[in-house]
Amino acid sequence: MRTMIQGGWVVGHRNGSHYILRNGQCVIEGDKIIHIGRAYQGELKKTVNARNRLITPGLISTHLHAGNNTSNHLYLDNGRPEAIGRNYLNWQARRRDGVREDPNRLSALFGLAQCMRSGVTTAVEIGCGGVSPEIFVGAVDELGVRVYTGPSYRNALVYSANDGRLEYDWDQERGGRGLEVAVQFVRDFDGAAGGRLRAILCPGHTDTCDPRVLVQTAEYAAELRVPITIHSAINPHETLRVLDTHRLSPVELLAKQGLLGPQVILGHCVFISGHSWLPYSQSRDLELLGENGATVSHAPYKYMQMGACLESVASYISAGVNVTIGTDITPSDIVKEMRLAMLGSRISDRSFLSSTPRDVFDAATVNAANALGRSDLGRLEPGAKADIAIFNLDKLNFGFVHDPIRALVEAGSGADLEALLVDGRFVMADGRLLLIDEDEILACTQAEGRSMLNAIPNWLWGQRSADEAVPLAYTIEGDGT
Ligand SMILES: [Zn+2]
Repeated sequence: MRTMIQGGWVVGHRNGSHYILRNGQCVIEGDKIIHIGRAYQGELKKTVNARNRLITPGLISTHLHAGNNTSNHLYLDNGRPEAIGRNYLNWQARRRDGVREDPNRLSALFGLAQCMRSGVTTAVEIGCGGVSPEIFVGAVDELGVRVYTGPSYRNALVYSANDGRLEYDWDQERGGRGLEVAVQFVRDFDGAAGGRLRAILCPGHTDTCDPRVLVQTAEYAAELRVPITIHSAINPHETLRVLDTHRLSPVELLAKQGLLGPQVILGHCVFISGHSWLPYSQSRDLELLGENGATVSHAPYKYMQMGACLESVASYISAGVNVTIGTDITPSDIVKEMRLAMLGSRISDRSFLSSTPRDVFDAATVNAANALGRSDLGRLEPGAKADIAIFNLDKLNFGFVHDPIRALVEAGSGADLEALLVDGRFVMADGRLLLIDEDEILACTQAEGRSMLNAIPNWLWGQRSADEAVPLAYTIEGDGT
């Protein structure tokens, strides 16, 4: 069945570059795009009117934790000062191995559903949403989204001692055991959900994995032909710890273990040698990243919350790094992340000429697809997958639109997304996800948030109750029922 989406602006792709077609047409058949152009003459079963709309390739988030992540909301700026107030180290509250005791399918859907609402059709998800692989694969199937995922593994679990100090519980065998589970996941589930679920190896971080586990990860990835993602240089603590342990920066460690290359997605990779927050500028990290064509997943919002920037998107790109965009944790809005990536680069370089809408739109589309080895994603051209986002730019927040990509990056958000297709199927229309009950996911997330608030350990705030201790913008009166 052939369907034509009649634009509007259509973001086509040819000769390695996006271009914009005004009053363009995008014709799909099955899960593929068969035509981008004007005045299509072939037979059609259906025409979708998308006049005044922007039709883009489905966006790709290269770093997402799909679970509820309510802890992040709660800790906000009140976390450990030594972990920058809201870094992930804040919620490593207790020893924990494996998946949650009470896996909840709806909770695992929250992050995925949220980033789909901003135009994401493909997400690289780390850790199967904190639920069992079977449940997560079922959830992906149900949502209709495209996901690269796998269980995360590491040697060290970081947890809080009774006095609140962070401790590393290092187990020499844990990383290898986790890797075996991850390899089994590849064998069991790669290609599930009609091919929309693909496996990726997810070693935890450069400071939580034994170098031998990293080497084995690279070997398995080559054998199984799957990509890798690893958190790298995500906070000064990690970078300094790796320097202390190995006398190498995280980037140098990864290079030494064979884990720098286009198909290894480095989560964050902010605190590299020479970063203004680090007392260390002695290694050639940026050059190494560039020489190896390494891929970085940049999720700027989380860093800006902490007062930090990647320094800078423009300099990473000019060094040869394949910069992509991640949506990390809630609020997961890739359009806003694109804007912040561009603006963060300008602030970091103190120049309005640093980074452009084109840089960050490429990052969220073709660059990400290249990192996954997918020439059929992140672009609209004949033969590519019919993964498509339709944004409504005919709204007051945009005003007059001359350049639709600039308008989206400068003034847009996920709230402007109107429809989403994955594999040629509408998974969202009229601003609502079609294949799951959004209200049910929301109710579940809200209930889990309340129970997490009540369960926050009191080491962080002394003996005060969580309600007293979590910072509020203003006093809230009433009992909340
Ligand atoms: Zn992460």
